[in-house]
Amino acid sequence: MSIEIVRTVADLRVRLGDWKCSARTIGLVPTMGSLHDGHLSLVRRSLAATGRTCLTLFVNPGQFGAGEDLAAYPRDEAADVALAEAEGAHLVFAPTADDMYPEGFATQVAVPGLGDMLEGEHRPGFFIGVATVVAKLLVQALPECAFFGDKDYQQLLVIRRLVIDLDIPVAIEGCPIVREPDGLALASRNAYLTADERRRAPALYQAISGVAKDITGGADVARACAGATKALLEAGFSAVDYVTVRDAETLKPVSDASRPARVLAAAQLGKARLIDNVAV
Ligand code: AMP
Repeated sequence: MSIEIVRTVADLRVRLGDWKCSARTIGLVPTMGSLHDGHLSLVRRSLAATGRTCLTLFVNPGQFGAGEDLAAYPRDEAADVALAEAEGAHLVFAPTADDMYPEGFATQVAVPGLGDMLEGEHRPGFFIGVATVVAKLLVQALPECAFFGDKDYQQLLVIRRLVIDLDIPVAIEGCPIVREPDGLALASRNAYLTADERRRAPALYQAISGVAKDITGGADVARACAGATKALLEAGFSAVDYVTVRDAETLKPVSDASRPARVLAAAQLGKARLIDNVAV
């Protein structure tokens, strides 16, 4: 059986309605496509935990700022559908921007606080775009469970907050970061790296892992983060937006490793802005 693709919310609801009638639980895996093994790990997790898995493919214009890479963002729907099918996903939802944002669309979902700092500070409006599209996808599909990667750790916390605040009856499951053997976190934007930049890119994971190790051993947080920033610039990153240690739930700054924390970083390498994080 070849995988089904639906493109409208109405068709999505018909298909998922059939599954609900036959008492299948539904897992939703929202993505912007250009699938790699990180995305496919979410599909595998959904297949293991639910009866039917729907993968969404939508490069959401709402989460790209002016001057960002919306036009250049890698897209290959045929390859994505083939990968989703090979993995055993049951349905691909690939809406058009017009179907998601029809004429007159005006509503925005904002998660102030969690959504204003870090990525929200460096990419103004980013989390409004993410929260709005994820809220729409969740309400469109009403899955029992939706799967997101720890790779976008702040995004995961924003989404957990919005489903609580909006009473959306879905369990949000965070899934571990899938990495290349040299530590680089898989990301669609890694495609922008030249061969030379690709060799330098694992410095990001090395830097944040070093911070986690150092502060666990009692090192000063600010000094560890400053050292990591210097190492990234020396490794060839052109700008470091942040290397920071935050409370794992609130993302408020922490000054030691006495509570669960996360080291988060964002830095520019050539055309690619890379983000990564590790648990402390
Ligand atoms: P994106 O297509 O970049 O919007 O990502 C779609 C989903 O895949 C998000 O929940 C991401 O956190 C997750 N994801 C992306 N890269 C990875 C990775 N390397 N490991 C695990 N999950 C990932």
